[in-house]
Amino acid sequence: MENKLSSSFNSGGGIYIHIPFCKQACHYCDFHFSTSMGKKEEMLLAIQKELELRKLEFEGEIVETIYFGGGTPSVLRTNEIQSLINTVYKNFNVVNNPEITLEANPDDLSEENIITLSKSPINRLSIGVQSFFEEDLKLMNRAHSAAEADETLKIATQYFNNISIDLIYGMPNMTNERWVANIDKALSFKIPHISSYALTVEPKTALASFIKKGLIKPLDDALAQEHFDILLQKMKANSFVAYETSNFGKEGFFSKNNTAYWLGKKYIGVGPSAHSYDGIRRGWNVNNNPKYIKAILSNELPMETETLSKTDVYNEYVMTGLRTIWGVSLERIEDEFGIRFYDYLLQQAKNHIESELLKVENKTLLTTKKGKFLADGIASDLFMINLS
Ligand code: SF4
Repeated sequence: MENKLSSSFNSGGGIYIHIPFCKQACHYCDFHFSTSMGKKEEMLLAIQKELELRKLEFEGEIVETIYFGGGTPSVLRTNEIQSLINTVYKNFNVVNNPEITLEANPDDLSEENIITLSKSPINRLSIGVQSFFEEDLKLMNRAHSAAEADETLKIATQYFNNISIDLIYGMPNMTNERWVANIDKALSFKIPHISSYALTVEPKTALASFIKKGLIKPLDDALAQEHFDILLQKMKANSFVAYETSNFGKEGFFSKNNTAYWLGKKYIGVGPSAHSYDGIRRGWNVNNNPKYIKAILSNELPMETETLSKTDVYNEYVMTGLRTIWGVSLERIEDEFGIRFYDYLLQQAKNHIESELLKVENKTLLTTKKGKFLADGIASDLFMINLS
């Protein structure tokens, strides 16, 4: 079974580079980052070294995408980013014209920086706008202002044609009118991609503590659902394809990096807290900057791994499949997982099909429009627990 699974993923992959620094901590964020840039030079050396140490993991493979995420990769200077890209090219086979994405925050994107980045191999910007309203940005403790977001997009769209922005909905006090105004503002820049997420309260974040202390209203699921419905309708009306629950792209502008991840391709994640997947095993680096640097500079990979069981792979496929327009192929379930999984899936899906949250089309299980917002909860009802 393992050979069959791994060979089916043997067609190129991506490299994810985690830059674990941010100027300040957003109240809702539980990603790994440090607000101290003190160890930046050592960190960059360690990430380069990790890329070298792991080059054999992609022997015979072609790198199709390079993704700088974080943290805030745009805190790096362009020559530092270029040097990391050079290290990838030196150690891996890279396809012609790969998608190279930089996550960037508006406060780092001055006109001068945008021009310098546009002359580098970076060909896609994913800009963390989150909201065009000052009140929302303050509530989230974002480092940029609404005016900066506006100005950045005016300039960035002159130099990059492949731009995505992030928007957050379901915030306390965000009326439907304000959410519509946010979407309309985003659309006014004619960008080809929008990633939009419901605000969630992660444990141990400032947001969780403010809600607990009664300083901020608790989140309202019904409001988030309303915002999502508005988003779906506005994206459709403006020819964006809802290709994943949180991702909307014009034809030809879907994120290649994220799509590869959802389709189960291999990826190597370097940097502290970065995750990797080789078709059989999932790995994750230590989420501590000094420990990461120390281990890598001693030629050790500070990574824990787990081998995915057939049940784990099935559950992940169902989870990601139901979030995307590609759905869950019933043929793949039968061929790769067997009749037990196939029967179980259809049995568990039955109620959701009757409630019109799921549908079967062309031997593929998909969420309906009504089921899209609930995709994660529906998927968990279809997970296999005891069989292996
Ligand atoms: S900039 Fe991004 S990674 Fe950094 S704290 Fe804010 S949301 Fe988290």
